[in-house]
Amino acid sequence: MTNEPVVSVRELRVYYGTKRGPVQAVDGVSLDIAAGEVVGLVGESGCGKSTLGRGILGLLPEGASSDGEVIYGGRNIVGMTPKELRRLRGPDLGLIFQEPMTRLNPLMRIEEHFKETLEQHEPSLGDKEIRRRSLETLGRMGIPPTRFSQYPHEFSGGMRQRIMIALAVVLQPKLLIADEPTTSLDVIVEAQILSILADLRRNFGTALLLITHNLGIVAESCDRVAVMYAGKIVEEGPARDVFIDPAHPYTRELLRSTISLETSELHSIPGAPPSLLDPPRGCRFHPRCPSAMWVCATTDPIEKRIDADRRVQCWLHGPEDRIPEGGTAELEREEIAVAEEA
Ligand code: SF4
Repeated sequence: MTNEPVVSVRELRVYYGTKRGPVQAVDGVSLDIAAGEVVGLVGESGCGKSTLGRGILGLLPEGASSDGEVIYGGRNIVGMTPKELRRLRGPDLGLIFQEPMTRLNPLMRIEEHFKETLEQHEPSLGDKEIRRRSLETLGRMGIPPTRFSQYPHEFSGGMRQRIMIALAVVLQPKLLIADEPTTSLDVIVEAQILSILADLRRNFGTALLLITHNLGIVAESCDRVAVMYAGKIVEEGPARDVFIDPAHPYTRELLRSTISLETSELHSIPGAPPSLLDPPRGCRFHPRCPSAMWVCATTDPIEKRIDADRRVQCWLHGPEDRIPEGGTAELEREEIAVAEEA
């Protein structure tokens, strides 16, 4: 692994236009991913993880807008034309979706999917080379050549997911975003897919962003972890350090609500993530935070480096000189509404 970032995200914002106003799905996110590095992106559903993944690749749906920077190969992906983006996708940037059947064409054989992908991005390849590359990639995913001419519906869910991964990696992308790649798969297939992703970064130096709500997967597979809440990255650092000593109350609560061998009682975080149409003032986690103070309900926390490679957005870590007098007083639950109205 090198320290050179393959992609540098700076102050990325993604908004969805709705009749009731803009939804701030990603709000000022910065993140680097180096070659051969796996970064886990975690958080509850609705916190903006998938939107961030798509925003990095410039793959946003109609009605979404973005600003900020996603620097890849010295160029800003934000603001690229659809034609420029299409050229980058495949050989440079890849995406593995959660549900393979939405991406595989049920009327096309697996071999046709590969032919289409390779011909689009490497038009000089002949049929023989296309077949060789496709079978080699499928073989690495444990799909035998005898299945090459079959249709998607002839495969199990786990095999379809591996085919999707093979299609994403046949062009050996430098950056791969995997959005819940193992959701709804059994643990054996899940382990196979995680080992395939680990091979990818080892063999090709692929930078990988692994979006998941499964902290166990992150602990096993990721070098670093970024914790996302209500459109912001609230904590980021080496996965091991964050798991052993979480700095943000939301990370602590997420870890407490994960089942492990030591779990005797299942914890759930009270409340739910806020609507991103009108998020709470100050720290967006304050209505649910067990450590909330008065300053949290009125003022956005400032990002603080707590180590060379760790950062956190939480007033518990200061800076103290930016907290107004009386701001560290505990915020009682019943005071939250009053503070928000003030
Ligand atoms: Fe809790 Fe305040 Fe930190 Fe937000 S800033 S996580 S409310 S202590």
